[in-house]
Amino acid sequence: MIPKLISEARKIVFKFGSNTLADEGGRINHALLAEFADQTAALMQRGKRVIIVSSGAQVAGLSTLDRWARKQDIHYRQALCAVGQVELMIAWGRAFAAHGIHIAQILLTRSDFDDPLRTLNMRNTLFTLVDEGIIPIINENDTVSVEEIKIGDNDTLAAQSAVLWSADLLVLFSDIDGLYDKNPKEYPDAELLSEVRDLSVLKDRITAGGTNSFGTGGIATKIDAARRTAGYGIPMILAHGGRPRVLEALASGTQRGTAFLA
Ligand code: ADP
Repeated sequence: MIPKLISEARKIVFKFGSNTLADEGGRINHALLAEFADQTAALMQRGKRVIIVSSGAQVAGLSTLDRWARKQDIHYRQALCAVGQVELMIAWGRAFAAHGIHIAQILLTRSDFDDPLRTLNMRNTLFTLVDEGIIPIINENDTVSVEEIKIGDNDTLAAQSAVLWSADLLVLFSDIDGLYDKNPKEYPDAELLSEVRDLSVLKDRITAGGTNSFGTGGIATKIDAARRTAGYGIPMILAHGGRPRVLEALASGTQRGTAFLA
C-alpha cells in the first residue's frame, strides 16, 4: 500500500521529528539531511511537489550553544530556538543547494490557523513557492509561542499544513518503523500495524506505557494527525526517518511503515 500511496501522490508533506534529525551525539545529522535531499530532488524531477515540516531548532541550537544545554528557563529555551532555527535552515539550505533547489522558511503559530485572512495568505504563499520549485520548510514559531497559544507539536502542525495546502499525502518520519500494538521501545514483541483503515478501533487495539503512551503525547499526536488529515481524504504514512534511503525504500516496498488510509 505504501508504494502505491507514494507513487500516486503529487503533493507530499514530509515531517521530521527532532529525534530523527539528531545524530547520536545530539547534533543535527547532516548526512541524513543530504540523503533525504538527494531522494527528494529525484521525486521533484518526476513532477512531485514537496513541503517539509521540520522540528529540530532546539537540537540545532544546542549544536551551536552547548553551554545552554542545562538552562531550563523558558526565555533561554525560546532564545535557543531562535538561534537554532537559523542553524536548522542553514543545514536544510545546504542539503538542497547541492541539487540546485531553494528552500523557504515559514514559521507559524496556532493563531495563524485561526485567522481566515492569515490562512489564505499562508496558502497563497505556499502555492507560489511550490509552483516556483522552492521547498517551504515549516516550523512552529517558538519565539512567540508560549504554552497557551502553542500548536504544541509538529505532528499537528504537519497535519494542518497538509490540509491547508490540499496535499495528497502526509509522511511523518519518526524514530520507529510505524504504529505498533504496544510501545516497541518497552516491548520487544510489539507488532507493527502495516495498515490502519479505521481509526476508531485503534484505542482497543493499541496499548502503550511510559511517557510516550497513547493519549499523553508521542504516538498519540501522530494518530491525531492521521485523524485530522483523514477528515480531508489525505492518507498518512508513519515511518522511520533514519532508515537507509528511506524514501526510496518506502516507495519500492523494501522498507515497512504504517499506512493510515483516509
Ligand atoms: P517524534 O519526535 O518523531 O515526533 P515521539 O518521540 O514524539 O516522536 O513519538 C514516537 C515514540 O512513540 C516512539 O519512539 C515510541 O517509543 C513511542 N510509542 C508509544 N507507543 C507506541 C506505539 N503503540 N507504536 C509506536 N510507537 C509508540
